[in-house]
Amino acid sequence: NIRVRFAPSPTGDLHIGGVRTALFNWLFASKGGKFILRIEDTDEARSTDASVQVILDAMKWLGLNWDEGPGNEPEKYAPYYQMKRKTAGIYQKYADELIAKGLAYPCYCTPEEVDQMRKDAQAQKLPPKYNGKCRNLTPEQRKQKEAEGRTAVIRFKMPSDGKIILNDLIRGSVEFDNATLDDFVIMKANGVPTYNFACVIDDYLMEMTHVLRGDDHISNTPRQIHLYNALGWQMPKFAHMAMILGPDGARLSKRHGHTSVLEYRNEGYLPEALLNYLALLGWSTEDSQQIFTIAQLKEKFSIDRCGTSPSTFDPAKLLWLNGEKIREKSVTEVFNLFIDWLKYTNNEKIIEGWNIELLKKAITLEHEKIKLLKDIPSLVDFFFVKDVEFQEEAVKKVFEKSKETAGVVLKESAQKLPIQADFSADALEKFARDLAAEKGIGTGKVFHPIRVAISGRTQGPSLFHMMEVMGKEEVVKRISLAIG
Ligand code: GLU
Repeated sequence: NIRVRFAPSPTGDLHIGGVRTALFNWLFASKGGKFILRIEDTDEARSTDASVQVILDAMKWLGLNWDEGPGNEPEKYAPYYQMKRKTAGIYQKYADELIAKGLAYPCYCTPEEVDQMRKDAQAQKLPPKYNGKCRNLTPEQRKQKEAEGRTAVIRFKMPSDGKIILNDLIRGSVEFDNATLDDFVIMKANGVPTYNFACVIDDYLMEMTHVLRGDDHISNTPRQIHLYNALGWQMPKFAHMAMILGPDGARLSKRHGHTSVLEYRNEGYLPEALLNYLALLGWSTEDSQQIFTIAQLKEKFSIDRCGTSPSTFDPAKLLWLNGEKIREKSVTEVFNLFIDWLKYTNNEKIIEGWNIELLKKAITLEHEKIKLLKDIPSLVDFFFVKDVEFQEEAVKKVFEKSKETAGVVLKESAQKLPIQADFSADALEKFARDLAAEKGIGTGKVFHPIRVAISGRTQGPSLFHMMEVMGKEEVVKRISLAIG
């Protein structure tokens, strides 16, 4: 039975790369496996509760629900926060076990001393690593160090030669020379485990069958494999996903724009667009399908179709995909998503006083054009204003350039529209065309002034549908006001 986890460190926002890791694990577990969320908060200086909250909020918004983790902690594996596990003594127990087996040892060297060892090694063109000074201290020597007031970290005894092989489900077999690995710290002096140690203990105790993570961790994996071996534990299968690059080929980071997933939420991206897009970063189907429903992703995802070459994050493609997903929705769904968006961005005041039925109709008219939920207000707000705000450009282009015709068109419209019985888009189009014919002018000379008069702009939904939705009374009122 598949058990996989997403194990973020709550040291900042949840980033695009992290969401991709969470997504792939979630998809992989979706056919009857378990998806576990574990909070790796052992970096005491950088972990914050606020960041945990961001992770939980983002995962919930995305719909990446976890079978076990914060809020749902089966006793067998709990707790799901590493600092709570530390308090429960879980890591110390195994550190003690390794020391008892002679596979780990207390090290009293200060950070400065270790730094110096690294520099010395480098000067001799050797891998910059801890030199094993405290490996073979006698009990007396240890006592003496302690008497000097030194505190100890616990280091793992790394074999100094030989190779370790990682059989990665994505990258195949990867070899590491043990000589390049040092006696890494597993427990800090304050009793907090390091990432590699806590990760192995927890992945084992939580019975992970697979570890699917970014290949920025691949250099940690040989250390973790050594730990599994030292503890005599069967290890999970590893799969390291190729990294995500920015459009400039550098590793994806802040300077490529938003990286935090909640910023995407605030921009008005839909979870399924973001997830669909992220699924394409490092995974593909044989026929290169681009648009997926979540159900299709669950059905089709497999680790063997994950690739080894880095993928490039393309914001334009994500935006396109978001527009596609919005178009696939019904107007009611788009409306509901928009209302949710207003709530979580604290923008509810934008629609204060707006007629909801009119808003739904306006969304219907602009549905095709919406790329982001945040676009909606500026696309439809002119329907709801008391006084039309005229764009300077529109006034110049349409009213001032052909002042006379525009004046005539608007006056005639103001007179005739009140008695126009049929106010449907079709009838209004006929009205406008007839007016153009009667005055012997091009249709544009009729359409444009009316559009600017009632919306203040040159761009917008189809004119006659817009008039129909706005209604006779409002259209006539706006045209009369434009005449002044
Ligand atoms: N806490 C680690 C990170 O956020 C987890 C790495 C792993 O999946 O093992 O990068």
